[in-house]
Amino acid sequence: MAGRIPEKFIDDLLARIDIVDVIAERVQMRKAGRDWSARCPFHDERSPSFTVSPAKQFYHCFGCGAHGSAIGFLMNYDRLEFPDAVEELAKRAGLTVPYEGGRAAPREDAGDLYDLLEAAAKFYRRQLDASASARDYFARRGLDAAIIARFNLGYAPDAWDALKNALGTSAARIALLEKAGLLTHGERGGKYDRFRDRVMFPILDRRGRTIAFGGRILTTPKTKSATSSGTDAPENRAVVEESGDGPPVFDSRAQDARTNEPTQDARKGGSGAKYLNSPETPLFHKGRELFGLWQVREANPKLARLIVVEGYMDVISLHQAGVTQAVATLGTATTRDHAEILFRQCADVYFCFDGDRAGRQAAWRALESVLPRMRDGRQALFLFLPDGEDPDSLIRSEGLAGFEQRLQAATPLSEFLFGELGKDVNLASLDGKARLAERARPLLAQIPDGAFRDLMLAELDRLTGVQVQVAAAAAPQRPRPRAQPAQRSLVRAAITLLVQQPALAAALQPPWMFAALRQPGVPLLVELIELCRARPGLATGALLEQFAARDEAKALQKLAVAEFPGGEDAARAEFVDAIAQLERQTRRQRLEDLRRQQAEAALSEAQKQELRELLAQVAGRT
Ligand SMILES: [Zn+2]
Repeated sequence: MAGRIPEKFIDDLLARIDIVDVIAERVQMRKAGRDWSARCPFHDERSPSFTVSPAKQFYHCFGCGAHGSAIGFLMNYDRLEFPDAVEELAKRAGLTVPYEGGRAAPREDAGDLYDLLEAAAKFYRRQLDASASARDYFARRGLDAAIIARFNLGYAPDAWDALKNALGTSAARIALLEKAGLLTHGERGGKYDRFRDRVMFPILDRRGRTIAFGGRILTTPKTKSATSSGTDAPENRAVVEESGDGPPVFDSRAQDARTNEPTQDARKGGSGAKYLNSPETPLFHKGRELFGLWQVREANPKLARLIVVEGYMDVISLHQAGVTQAVATLGTATTRDHAEILFRQCADVYFCFDGDRAGRQAAWRALESVLPRMRDGRQALFLFLPDGEDPDSLIRSEGLAGFEQRLQAATPLSEFLFGELGKDVNLASLDGKARLAERARPLLAQIPDGAFRDLMLAELDRLTGVQVQVAAAAAPQRPRPRAQPAQRSLVRAAITLLVQQPALAAALQPPWMFAALRQPGVPLLVELIELCRARPGLATGALLEQFAARDEAKALQKLAVAEFPGGEDAARAEFVDAIAQLERQTRRQRLEDLRRQQAEAALSEAQKQELRELLAQVAGRT
């Protein structure tokens, strides 16, 4: 189990870093008064509604409602888990994250895994230098030294324990190698290198760290000798070898389990899958990673498009030819996670598939995953390649210009969708039209509200002449937060002021008489005051971070960005006044309680005294 990160540490961390720096490294911002503004990285927009407040250490988008502290930003933007976002910021600030109660300190473990995978990449790289046949393979595929370096390609030697011997210097390291997916084991438990006699493709995460590998078998099976040479189209697909969710087929099946010794056949890779990926590990989830994305971001500070292809070699060839926006999924169909990651990078995503049946099926799955992500401004396009061609072969034969031309002529999502749905439907008949509408309805319902959805519905109308009713999309639109100062209750006003300026809490002294007030929000106000007093120096972002997992998070975030007229002094005066009014209300409430009790039964002496004092106080203040 992961150890808990103390809240105190989160406070200190957020106090040390500046959210503006963190976001500025990822999003181009412009100074706007005291704040910074930018076009929102979380939704598509033409004019900036994304604001970062240095004073509050908080970001907020008035368009889509995205908001949070520097931690939240990293979680959303870099798609990190909470502890990883904290780790990332801690590294910046030169702090070490303390973990409470975690026995095994799993984060350190993760750090070790990264180091180990990096060492493995280096090892494979050195082996490539040492292997004439591996270098020859890349040469035959037309890769130059620069592109081999850019993708850090390597070679896993034709041996059962090359990596294990090189890096598995202790039992703990061997266990770690296994955890990293680099070792596998036979039925008798003997451990050996997962990747053998393969050219290696390191898979990097969005921070450029090696998290897994893909390996392509080097030795071509003798039986296929006649056909395989040069650009071997079908084997270029990383997709074909793995089936569904099952474990990857690894080429040790032919290994002789009785002796734990490889057979000659397996040694030559004769029975191995052509492409083999690392299994799922704590660091690697193939449904959430894209091969080449790191290199894309390195090559394109401003990214206008992404091109999703099927194989590692496709990605690399395209990059070498100058199409530096190519990525590939990792032996899986395009997932919704992928779609979200893709569209976070840019607005236009091209899916490039074989023109055959399998390719069209893969394209359809991609379409299904992107539909719920098709917010306005986003575009998905589909490019189908001629029979027997893949991007690798195509860019060789047609060059950059030819490939660009094909991209220009790519099929828009709408056309592909209605084309596929209408394939075996006679649109001249009423029956056919009804069937098309029937098929399209659940798909169109997944598109978020907006102009694109309206256009798709209009197109369906045009095709069928039927007015289609579609249920509301799954993703509801967030309303724009509106400041309504006139309608704010006192409690709400006090909370708003406090969230915007946590230091105001210092102006109060306990006990909080108003804590007894029976009004919505009072317990929250008390909690906030106590929190702010216990942790002086807390900024808005850090304060909200404490509530991130709570039901109140959303409401607090709205209050944090509500417009509040007047400067710091005005806010302080208003806060003190609000609290004073709340105390008065509390007295009145107590007075009412005592009077009600008095009507039903006799009061104790102490209560009578209290009542007299309250009456005097209320009278005195009117
Ligand atoms: Zn936004």
